[in-house]
Formats: sequence, structure tokens, C-alpha cells
Amino acid sequence: MPASDHVDLNGFIEGVKRRNPGQSEFVQAVTEVAEDIFDFIGDKVQYHEAQILRRIAEPDRVVSFRVCWQDDNGNIRVQRGWRVQNNNSIGPYKGGIRFHPSVTESVLKFLAFEQTFKNALTGLPMGGGKGGANFNPKGKSVNEIMRFCQSFMTELYRHIGADIDVPAGDIGVGGREIGFMFGQYKRITNNFTGVLTGKGLEWGGSLIRTEATGYGAVYFLQNMLKSRGQDVAGKVAVISGSGNVATHAAEKIVALGGKVVTLSDSEGFVHDPDGITQDKIDWVKTHKTHRRGRISDYATEFKSATFHGGGARPWGVPCDVALPCATQNELNGEEARTLLKNGCTAVAEGANMPTDLDGVHVFKAARILYAPGKASNAGGVAVSGLEMSQNSARMSWKEEELQTMLKDIMSGIHDRCLEYGRSADGHVDYVKGANIAGFKKVADAMLAFGVV
Ligand code: NDP
Repeated sequence: MPASDHVDLNGFIEGVKRRNPGQSEFVQAVTEVAEDIFDFIGDKVQYHEAQILRRIAEPDRVVSFRVCWQDDNGNIRVQRGWRVQNNNSIGPYKGGIRFHPSVTESVLKFLAFEQTFKNALTGLPMGGGKGGANFNPKGKSVNEIMRFCQSFMTELYRHIGADIDVPAGDIGVGGREIGFMFGQYKRITNNFTGVLTGKGLEWGGSLIRTEATGYGAVYFLQNMLKSRGQDVAGKVAVISGSGNVATHAAEKIVALGGKVVTLSDSEGFVHDPDGITQDKIDWVKTHKTHRRGRISDYATEFKSATFHGGGARPWGVPCDVALPCATQNELNGEEARTLLKNGCTAVAEGANMPTDLDGVHVFKAARILYAPGKASNAGGVAVSGLEMSQNSARMSWKEEELQTMLKDIMSGIHDRCLEYGRSADGHVDYVKGANIAGFKKVADAMLAFGVV
């Protein structure tokens, strides 16, 4: 047996740290997965011999490039863009583009790594990738955003393609930005093809793509609750974020008879004990997306609410269920303990890796219903996969058909988590289930390809 077979979990993590200096988010994501995978592959020599986990934790390639653009005052600005193509063993690379000042290579590598498992879990043929830039869209004019998107795509276009790598949106990238990038791709290549998802309905987009991540997270929550004979109806939900995922998760909770009492942004959170109804959610969508406003204004608009500033997070508000839907590491171990103390019994992550490693261990040890983002937020990429199918077939499915497919995909992911996450006493560790099910699919494909 090769010497590396004898590396234990700690040795493996030490190696990941050594090879990726200063990339704490990437190391965190790999650690969380490795904790479960080492257990699973303990007696499976084929995965050791082929060094599968080591290979999945080494991106196929990381492309980094300069993005120059001109602001409205004529100043030349320089940003850094990336595309991380993590693994394409089961399909073309697929994953969003993020524009946020906090974007680094480490953040995009963690997201592309997570995406590899998530995409495998959907059951659709998609590999894992992620991209973005350290560009801050806040405070920029529409023309500045357009010029940035065009400059970004002027480099990115040579690395992507409908059968190569198909990006989508993420934080800071919505329908408008996808439009600007698709327009530039089409202009450079003279090729109208399904190279991006999250497109407008008039030019190749799919119905329910916008809603899919938030709705999917709530469908996953519904599946978990059902396994304990419970339902979303009557449950009090604490949600973080106020962007695409948070507002659509809130919308679905309300539609199913639950009560949403918080939303947040990077400045703080609003607590509305009367409940954030559909009318109020519509106001938030318009205010945050179209007016680029702040969530603090909610408390001025709706007198039943209070705003808690200074970057405060909502996890101290008592609830039955929690849905972190803003960003990575927004819920730590202490906050996880507070949620439990206040009676929270289910957590479904809408964001990617919103719970830090300490928090994950707290939820796992408490044996609550805890769904990691790679399982519960996969609805978005799943409908992106369906958008790719519709583009290839030059057709579009009706809304009801897509709603049914989304529900089926989310319950399929739930079943896959049960398969590998259920212990003898019936408890389900969804983190373990998702990690192993995602790993196994990618790993078996990699074994078939030999050493490449
Ligand atoms: P949006 O840009 O629409 O919204 C992001 C929200 O998170 C905003 O409310 C934003 O507040 C808040 N936020 C961002 N950074 C921070 C921070 N550092 N601290 C506190 N709040 C912050 O993004 P999405 O809703 O699309 O994405 C949210 C999460 O869901 C991300 O983790 C993303 O990767 C994940 N996700 C998204 C998918 C999608 O389909 N869009 C698919 C799967 C996962 P502010 O306005 O102040 O910046």
C-alpha cells in the first residue's frame, strides 16, 4: 500500500493547511467534509489507493485575472477576478459568480469545493466550480456595473462554455448582472448558447430559477420536519439575509403557514414580532433589490419592528426553526448554543457554510434537525441544471412542471442524506449523509477515469 494510505484525518488536514497557506475558509470546508469521509472510507481501500479525497480537495484549475474598468468620473479601477474549476467528473463545471469586497481565492475555492458535493447530490450531471471578483457593487451606478461585468466577461469567456463551465449568480450577481455578462459573451463569441444560467425569461432563462434556492431550502426543511411528524405551519422562523435566498425562503415559510420574525443585512437585523408577511417581503424585495436600500429602513416603514444595528445577527431571537441565508460563518458555536437554549429544533442553511465548524459540532451533538447548505440550498443549482436542459433542447417547461421537479429533487436529496446519515437508533446526521452521498458519486466517476 502507498505510504499516504496511512495518513490519518489530522495528518490529512495538516497537509491541506500546508498546501493552502492563509486559506482558512477553504481549509474549513475541507475539514468539515473530511471528518465524515475518513470514517466512510476507513475500510474502502480503492478510494485510498486512488487518493480520491486529496484529488477532490485540489481544484482542477484556478484562473485568476485582472479586471480593469472605468468609473463614472473617468478613473481607472483595477479588480481581481477568478474562476475556480474544482471538479468535472460528473458534468461540466457549474457554480455561481460572486461580486463582493470579501471575495478571495480561499472563499471561491471553498465554494467550488462545496459545490462539487452539492451538485452531485442533486442527481443532475453537473461538476463543481465557482467564480467572482473583489468588486463591491454597492454604491455603483448601473453603467459602472455594466462596464465591470463586460470587462469581467472579456476574460472569463475563454474559460467557459455550455459543455465546459456554466456560471450563474451568487452574492452581488442577480438577473441584471447575468444579462450584462451574457450580452458581452454573445458579442465576443457570436454564439447564443446556454453558457450562463439565471438568464431572463425572454432570452433562455427558466421559470422559478429566481425563487428556487429559497423555496428549495424550505422544502428540505419540510422533509426534515415530516420525518418527526411535524410541519412548517405554526412554526416561528428566524432568517438572516435579505437578498435572493432569504426573501424567497421567507416567502415559502409564510405560504406554508409559518411565521417569519427576522431578516438581516450586513448592518444588522430587524425583528418583527407581528410576523414578516408577504406584503412586507414584497417591500423588502423592492427596497433591497431595486432601490438598493438597507434593511434598517424596514423598522421605519413597519412600526411593529425594531432594528438592531452594529452588524448584530438574529440568532438570539427565540424561534422553532432557523434559516441562515446571508453568507459564510455568520453563525458561530455560541450562537448555535443560544438557538438551542431558546428552543430551536431545526436549522436549514440557505447560505453556503453559514455555520462555523464549532457551530456545526454544536448542532450535530444536540442531534437536532440540521441541514448543511450543500443539501438544503441545492434547489438553485438544480433549477439551473434544468435551465441547461431546456436550453439544450430549445424548449421551456411550464411553472407547475418545474415546481414539481424542484420538490422531487429536494426530496431526492433528503433521501440520499438518509441513506448515508441515519444511525442505528434512527437519528439522521444530515451533514454526514450529504458529505458521503456527494462524495461517493464523484469518487466512483473518478475511479472510472483512472489517474487523470
Ligand atoms: P444576495 O446578494 O441576493 O444577498 C446577500 C444577503 O446577505 C444580503 O442581505 C447581504 O447584505 C447579506 N450579506 C452579504 N455579506 C454579508 C456579511 N458579510 N455579513 C452579513 N450579511 C451579509 O445573495 P444571495 O441571496 O444570492 O446569496 C446568499 C447566500 O446564499 C450566499 O451564501 C450564497 O452563496 C448562497 N446561495 C445562493 C444561491 C442563489 O441561487 N442565489 C444558491 C445557493 C447558495 P448586504 O445587502 O448588506 O450586503
